[in-house]
Amino acid sequence: MAKEVLYSSTRGEKGNIKASEAILRGLAGDGGLYVPDHIPHLEKSLREIADLDYQGTAYEVMKLLLTDYTEEELKYCISHAYDSKFDTQEIAPLSEADGAFYLELYHGSTIAFKDMALSILPYLMTTAAKKNAVKNDIVILTATSGDTGKAALAGFADVPGTKIIVFYPKHGVSPIQERQMVTQKGDNTCVIGIEGNFDDAQTGVKKLFTDKALAELMDSKGFQFSSANSINIGRLVPQIAYYVYAYCKLLKEGRIADGDEINVVVPTGNFGNILAAYYAKNMGVPIAKLICASNSNKVLFDFFKSGEYDRNRDFVLTSSPSMDILISSNLERLIYHIAGNDSVKDADLMAKLSNDGKYEITDDMRAKLDSFYGGYATEEETFATIKKVFDGAGYLIDTHTAVASAVYDKYKKETGDDKVTVIASTASPFKFTRSVMNALGHGDDSKDDFALADELSAISKVDIPEAVTSIRTAEIRHKTVVDRTEMEKAVKNFLGI
Ligand SMILES: *Cc1c(COP(=O)(O)O)cnc(C)c1O
Repeated sequence: MAKEVLYSSTRGEKGNIKASEAILRGLAGDGGLYVPDHIPHLEKSLREIADLDYQGTAYEVMKLLLTDYTEEELKYCISHAYDSKFDTQEIAPLSEADGAFYLELYHGSTIAFKDMALSILPYLMTTAAKKNAVKNDIVILTATSGDTGKAALAGFADVPGTKIIVFYPKHGVSPIQERQMVTQKGDNTCVIGIEGNFDDAQTGVKKLFTDKALAELMDSKGFQFSSANSINIGRLVPQIAYYVYAYCKLLKEGRIADGDEINVVVPTGNFGNILAAYYAKNMGVPIAKLICASNSNKVLFDFFKSGEYDRNRDFVLTSSPSMDILISSNLERLIYHIAGNDSVKDADLMAKLSNDGKYEITDDMRAKLDSFYGGYATEEETFATIKKVFDGAGYLIDTHTAVASAVYDKYKKETGDDKVTVIASTASPFKFTRSVMNALGHGDDSKDDFALADELSAISKVDIPEAVTSIRTAEIRHKTVVDRTEMEKAVKNFLGI
């Protein structure tokens, strides 16, 4: 038996709680994020894991980090999450195009990579509630820059014992993203637009989470909050699995030999996806460089270059809205680790971020970032990359994936590093149809997104995913828009408290 993994807050709150408790709580009471006390090494060899399917690989990873779940519980969660909701049995296929391997993480029910974690989180959470004899209904509170919201809604809709409230920036998501959310079915679902950007939504949600008076009121009425945001450790852990899966697939297909190092490129916003790759590396997957790709909101690029994180800058709306973020929440976990798992240092830096909007890490900490490479792509580069990959390789990618692909091109030029490389492909091109059509030179402002999807399908010979066709005529069920100062009131309204 492997050693039990316990979780504590990055900011020092009394910890050592079990995985299931950390998943239930989402965010620690001191505003910190739960982190494992150690990162276990994979038990089976990568060669052995290569013979497993996606579900089997996920189990090999998750059992090591979610140690208080039984084998039966984990296998139940995995088999119910990664099933026919995905449009391919492979769950996360790897496609070779234009000199890289694209790990397609968008075959789930909302056609973005958030499904990889949010299809399993409701199972992990309801199992955790049972294990911990929770009597309250769990209220999932989520801020979304577009994709998390729908994936969480799809995962939690009509799950007994849960309610879900999603806040999104009213003017900061794509029309298809918005329509996916506001047509969401399920009596336990609530979708609210706010007048503000994603950071406003996320800051507001964090405030609600740490409001003690609100927590007491909720408890007296039979409710408690939890989070489906990528700060929940129950989202991070399942994401590690696909990096292990990708490596093993390359191994199995003879694209690499045992022990060969690969690079991984991740289009990054909240830093959850790339942090999962970092954990995979620490669990024993031979990853050389973790290439962090940003769009014009290049806070992370500047951070990796200078060691200073500075959110004091204009927020730019781009064609990759799920990466339009100035505060990358999950970076806090990396900060904690590179500080030597030091919660005092972490809390100090996070207080600086909250007070001054910036902080600087020490040289010792910077030295521990040597496996990271930060890059960014402008809008022009992103669009040119979509066209280049489609014209040259006949392969269609979305705007987020194109940011990663463009950054990878720059990385190769700059370093000459030609290791086998996996690019995380985080959304279907049909989720961002208008931008993709513009990039391909077929933009048409007079047409709606559905008409453009028909054309994109004709041009690319790729079928329109079910997730898009099914919302074409669906009824709009959620119409509330509130000011960012009125989020608490909106929550109380929905819960009737
Ligand atoms: C959420 C998202 C990202 C960013 O992922 P993080 O884990 O927040 O860094 C990138 N692309 C798409 C399509 C997304 O939905």
